[in-house]
Amino acid sequence: MTSIYPLIFDKLYTYYGPQYWWPADTTFEMMIGAILVQNTNWHNVEKALTRLRPFLQPNQLERLETDELAQLIRPSGFYNVKAKRIKAFMQWFKKYDYKIEKVNQLDLKTLRRELLGIYGIGKETADCMLVYAFEKPIFIVDQYCRRLFYRIGLDMPKDYDAFRKLVESELPNNLQIYNEFHALIVEHGKVHCRKNPRCEACPLIRICNQRI
Ligand code: SF4
Repeated sequence: MTSIYPLIFDKLYTYYGPQYWWPADTTFEMMIGAILVQNTNWHNVEKALTRLRPFLQPNQLERLETDELAQLIRPSGFYNVKAKRIKAFMQWFKKYDYKIEKVNQLDLKTLRRELLGIYGIGKETADCMLVYAFEKPIFIVDQYCRRLFYRIGLDMPKDYDAFRKLVESELPNNLQIYNEFHALIVEHGKVHCRKNPRCEACPLIRICNQRI
C-alpha cells in the first residue's frame, strides 16, 4: 500500500493496534448507541445506555412510550428528538422481524438507501450501522477524519459522499479495514490529533503538514 489513505491506515494500525469496535455488548445496542451519540460524546451515551440497559432488546424497547424512552435517554442530550428517532428506527427494523440476518440480505446500496429514509438517520449514523451492525464495507466520514485529513494537508471534498468515495477509491473493499479505520481515526483524534494537537510522538508526523 503506497497511496495516502492506506499509508495513514497502516501507520495508525501499527501504532494503536486493533480497536475491537464498536463498544457495545450486542448489535442492537450498537445501533441504538449510534443514534444516541449524535451531537454528543460517548461518555453521555454510556450514561444513557446504563439507564436503558434493562430495555435493550427490541421487544422491550418497543413497549416503551416515546416519553418514557426520552426520560431514560435524557443524559445523551436532545432526548425528545432522539426518542422519536429511535422509535422511527424500531418501526423500520420491525419490518425485518428485528432480525439482523434478514437485513443483512440486502445489498449495501439498497440497505443504505433504506437507512437514510428513516427519520433522523443521517449518512454518518447510517454508515456506522452499515459497518458495525450489518457488516458492509464503507468508509465513515466524521469530524475526526475531516480534521485529521485537513491537518495532514489533504484538500478533501466538503460533500460527504465525495469525501467517502475518494478514500474508498484507494482502499480494498474489505470490511475489517473500514471497521478498524474509523475506530483508529477516532482514537487518534482523542490521543494525538486533538483540538489542541499533541504532535510530539504522533505516528503520522512524518507525513503530516501540521496544517493547524
Ligand atoms: S502531526 Fe499533529 S496535526 Fe499531524 S496528525 Fe499528528 S497530531 Fe495531528
